[in-house]
Amino acid sequence: MHVHTVENYLSELLPALGVNKRRELVRLAYEICKRDACAPQDILPAQKNLNFESAKKQLLAKRYPVNFKTAAKNRFYLPKLELDPALEADLSARPFYPKTVYIETSVLNSPLAERARAAFPRAEFKETDGKTQVGSPNFSRRLDTLLIHREKYDFLKPCPCSCAAAGCGYNLINLGFGCRFECEYCFLQQYQNLHAVLLPANVDEFLAKIDGAKFNKGPFDRPRIGSGEFTDSLVFDDLTRYSSQLVPFFRARPHLQFEFKTKSVNIGGLLEAGGCENVVVSWSVNSSKITDGAEHFTPGLTKRLAAACETARAGYRLGFHFDPVVIYDGCRADYARTVEEMADTLPKDKVAWISVGTLRFSRELKKMIENRFPRNTILDGEFLLDFDGKMRYGDGQRKEAYAFLVPLLRKAFPRAHVYLCMEDPHIAKEF
Ligand code: SF4
Repeated sequence: MHVHTVENYLSELLPALGVNKRRELVRLAYEICKRDACAPQDILPAQKNLNFESAKKQLLAKRYPVNFKTAAKNRFYLPKLELDPALEADLSARPFYPKTVYIETSVLNSPLAERARAAFPRAEFKETDGKTQVGSPNFSRRLDTLLIHREKYDFLKPCPCSCAAAGCGYNLINLGFGCRFECEYCFLQQYQNLHAVLLPANVDEFLAKIDGAKFNKGPFDRPRIGSGEFTDSLVFDDLTRYSSQLVPFFRARPHLQFEFKTKSVNIGGLLEAGGCENVVVSWSVNSSKITDGAEHFTPGLTKRLAAACETARAGYRLGFHFDPVVIYDGCRADYARTVEEMADTLPKDKVAWISVGTLRFSRELKKMIENRFPRNTILDGEFLLDFDGKMRYGDGQRKEAYAFLVPLLRKAFPRAHVYLCMEDPHIAKEF
């Protein structure tokens, strides 16, 4: 559905509308036409005495059939629809091969810089003092630039879980920024202005900070530290080999546990490093409709589970994140199939934890997703402005999703800690 088709139809139907009123109706009509693959005439036919209020009411009822009658009207977010085809994501497959590799002077001779020179001999290599910002203003061009740098400040921090959400005492080390996968919901799309892949060469300094830190273990048996907030923890591990430093470090500190979070099957470094009971390798899992349709360039569920089994055989424990759970017609059967495949495949005694979180995003990210993935289906659900300014499914839909999935997971994996992620504390405590 082209947005001009909707605009033209509404201009003919209600020619006297002001800018703001037009904007709201265009967005509602566009979202319904996109979701239902229909024409604007089908959802708002010409009718006697039609005005803005009656048109909006009809469109809201069609766009939000579950929540229209119960949600406060200010929770329906109807910003101007601004679609720029130049922002559309490039979904043609390509390997990660940066055009330019910047290396900060202080890490010119680091092992990571050496490996990058060997891996990308055709790239242009440039030395940088670390003060000049590198990268592209266009997120889709982020893989053109690799920066190997020395991190100076951002070593270790508590998980910036939405401040009003139920926290779990997680701690983060940010080993890298940027990812070569293209998940339609990825928050990195709207997080930074200049886009490149950033990889620190001074992992030893990150690890030194851990030794001096005090941790909250939350509801777990030991404090959890993880990477993978601004990148996938393993997607570049064949290049970075961070695993070869992290695994021995945590093996010597059994009072802590470290988590790699990934969708990749890039486990060679972990296998070489040997197993470690207090290192948990976690995979993001989903229904196959989402892994195949919205997580572009990622390995499918079966490959992820095969990598998990291999990792467990090597001596690691496993984690899984049903995040984001996407609600759509038929999603229950699809998610049940995913749980069934996990239960049939995985060594149950090796699964340490499983988190569940429904799809949520900021208002800015919504606009980015609809521009980069104009054919997405993940935004077709009913998202409302929520307690922390993010957009989420309504409470009822989220509770239904958790009431279905959480018991299923607890039954299939009785020894795993199953918990909700980034959720309203009132809802989290029900599960
Ligand atoms: S794997 Fe994670 S970091 Fe990479 S694109 Fe997907 S959501 Fe973003």
